[in-house]
Amino acid sequence: MDFALTEEQDAIFDMARAFGEEHIAPHAQAWERDGTIPKELWPQLAELGFGGLYVSEENGGSGLSRLDATLVFEALSMACPSVAAFLSIHNMCAKMLDSFASDEMRDRYLPAALSMEKVFSYCLTEPGSGSDAAALRTRATATDQGYSLTGTKAFISGGGYSDAYIVMARSGDDSPRGISAFVIEDGTAGLSYGGLEDKMGWRSQPTRQVQMDDCHIPATNLLGTEGEGFKYAMKGLDGGRLNISACSLGAAQAALTQTLNYMAERKAFGKSIDHFQALQFRLADAEIELQAARTFLRQAAWKLDNGTPDATKFCAMAKKFVTEAGSRVADQCLQLHGGYGYLADYGIEKIVRDLRVHQILEGTNEIMRLIVARQLLAER
Ligand SMILES: Cc1cc2nc3c(=O)[nH]c(=O)nc-3n(C[C@H](O)[C@H](O)[C@H](O)COP(=O)(O)OP(=O)(O)OC[C@H]3O[C@@H](n4cnc5c(N)ncnc54)[C@H](O)[C@@H]3O)c2cc1C
Repeated sequence: MDFALTEEQDAIFDMARAFGEEHIAPHAQAWERDGTIPKELWPQLAELGFGGLYVSEENGGSGLSRLDATLVFEALSMACPSVAAFLSIHNMCAKMLDSFASDEMRDRYLPAALSMEKVFSYCLTEPGSGSDAAALRTRATATDQGYSLTGTKAFISGGGYSDAYIVMARSGDDSPRGISAFVIEDGTAGLSYGGLEDKMGWRSQPTRQVQMDDCHIPATNLLGTEGEGFKYAMKGLDGGRLNISACSLGAAQAALTQTLNYMAERKAFGKSIDHFQALQFRLADAEIELQAARTFLRQAAWKLDNGTPDATKFCAMAKKFVTEAGSRVADQCLQLHGGYGYLADYGIEKIVRDLRVHQILEGTNEIMRLIVARQLLAER
C-alpha cells in the first residue's frame, strides 16, 4: 500500500494551486459581489487541460484519473471553492459527452467543451423533485424533426450563463427508464431562465431556473440512447461527489493555513493567541479532521478508479465525511479569528458560506447515509 502522490500528481496539484493563486484568489471576492465569473477565465483553465480532466485522451481530453482530478479541485478551491465547483459541473457534462454521445454529437460539442469556449450546465433537479430525481416531470415529446421539451429545471448552476445544457427529461414512462438526456443550446426558441437566485454561498456562480416551453431540438441532440438518460445522469455522480468533497477539503485547508498565520500575529492578554493551549488543541483537531478527510477521499477516489464493487459506498461515505469535516474546520477557523473572522475582508466567512451547500448538492448528506445504510443492510 502506497499513500504517497507520484511526482506527476504533485505537479498537477502545484499547477492548479499556482493558477488559483494568480488568476482566481485575487478576484474571488469581486466575482462574488458581481454574482458572476468572467467567461474569459474558462479558456485559460482549459489551456491547462482542465476543461476535460477525465475525458479520454483519445477524444482530446486530459485522461486523468478521478484521484488526479480531486487534486485539481482541492488546489483550485484553496483560491475559491465556488469557481472550482463550477468547473466540476462542466467537467461532469464533458465526461457525459465523452462517454455517451454519438460520434456526430461528440464532434459537434466536445471540442468546444474541452476548450471551454462553450460552458455546459447539468439540469436534473426540478422544483418538485431533488433527492427523488427520478420523479422528474419535464417532458420530451417526439416530433417530426426531433423532440419538443417542456418543463422547468430548478437550482441550475450556470442557468442563463452557460452556453449549453444537458437536460434530463421524460420521453417515456414514469419509471427511471422513461428518462432521456438531451443537449439544449442557449438561444434555442422556447428556452428561458428564471431570476437570479439570491444564495448564502457560491454567489459568484449564477444559479437560475431553466425553463423550457415547447423547446424544439433536433433528434441529433438526444444524448446516447433514449431511455438511458437517468443512468447517464447517475453515472457521473460518484465522481462528482469526490470533486465536491475535494472542494470542501481545499477551502478548509486554506482557512486553516490562514488561521495559523493569523494566530501568530493576533495578541490578547500580552501574548499571541497561538500560545493558548485551548486554541492549540482546536488547531490540532482541525489538522486531524482534514488529514483524515484527505486520506478517506483519496481512498474513495482510488476505489472509483479501480472499479471496486464498494466504490459507490465509499464515494458516498467520503462525501458525507469530508464535506462535514470541511465545514466544521472552516467554522472553527472563523471562531479563531474572533470578530475579524466575521468580516468579508478576511475571506473566512466566504469559505463558511460557500462550503455549506456541499452538504446539500450532489446528493444530500442524508442521501449519502441512505446509500451506505442500504449497502450495509444488503450485505448483512
Ligand atoms: C446552490 C445550488 C446549486 C445547485 N446546482 C444544481 C445543478 O447545477 N443541477 C442540478 O440538477 N441540481 C442542482 N442543485 C440541486 C440540488 O442537487 C438539490 O437541491 C438536492 O439534490 C436536494 O434536493 P431538494 O433541494 O429538492 O431537497 P429535497 O429532496 O426536497 O430534500 C429535503 C430534505 O429531505 C431530505 N430527504 C429527502 N429524501 C430523503 C430520504 N429518502 N431519506 C432521508 N432524508 C431525505 C434531504 O436530505 C433534505 O434534508 C443545486 C442546489 C443548490 C442549492
